[in-house]
Amino acid sequence: MSWFKREEVEYERGLAPGNGSDAAEKTVRTEGLWVKCLGCRQTIWKADLEANLNICTKCQHHFKLNARQRIEMLLEPGYELVDGGLRSTDPLNFVDVKPYKQRLRKAQETTGLNDAIINAVGLLGPHEVVLSVMEYRFIGGSMGAVVGETIARAVDRARLERKPLIVVAASGGARMMEGVVSLMQMAKISTALAQLDDARVPYICVLTDPTTGGVTASFAMLGDLNIAEPGALIGFAGPRVIEQTIRQKLPEGFQRSEFLLEKGFLDAVVPRNEMKNYLIRALEFLKAPAE
Ligand SMILES: [Zn+2]
Repeated sequence: MSWFKREEVEYERGLAPGNGSDAAEKTVRTEGLWVKCLGCRQTIWKADLEANLNICTKCQHHFKLNARQRIEMLLEPGYELVDGGLRSTDPLNFVDVKPYKQRLRKAQETTGLNDAIINAVGLLGPHEVVLSVMEYRFIGGSMGAVVGETIARAVDRARLERKPLIVVAASGGARMMEGVVSLMQMAKISTALAQLDDARVPYICVLTDPTTGGVTASFAMLGDLNIAEPGALIGFAGPRVIEQTIRQKLPEGFQRSEFLLEKGFLDAVVPRNEMKNYLIRALEFLKAPAE
């Protein structure tokens, strides 16, 4: 008897658009010319959406971007991808409704990545930066040993080369198929970030929809600046779990960027089309020598 049962669709949402009621929000469909916007329910031409950084042209709803699109959006051409060689060893030999190895294989085929993360080094405007971007389509952007180690390497690289670190978070949290190994990544990355802080190298975290669980509980909230895209779901436990625990209805907009900004958890909510300029200005400010 297994000790939990979970509908398969929950894991696969990010991978298989069209099999859940809100799948269109999770990923932009790769086939068909039209997309229905989850924000305003209007039908938008896919080419318009793509030309507008996946922001709805009618209501400004931010659709997801994949990791490669995100890097293209932020860095100048000529950036270099680094730290890409790691693969999960499936340390627990984990099987739920299907073997973890099978999930990994499928996610690797769908995304062309080894795991839910890409590190890059390049220019953000005039600034040389280390950029680490999570890929939500890879098992919900969950953080196992590979994601943890790859981010830790980005942090170490930023410290040793004295380049500011930008992390773009998009994650359902720890990867439960790696059990305690995935939870250890929180401490590992946080330790590396403390060293980066001691070395006085700037770190900015960009939180995108969704950033939850162990990622929020570690590096996503440890930036010198923590900024988010509009309307992003950001939290530790999900709203349904909290409602059931405290037996209260949660306020409107709970765990969305704007609500968190108002409550002091974020430093800014920045629309995607202003993100790059915002980061350039923030780095100018953070890199200015102390008087
Ligand atoms: Zn819309």
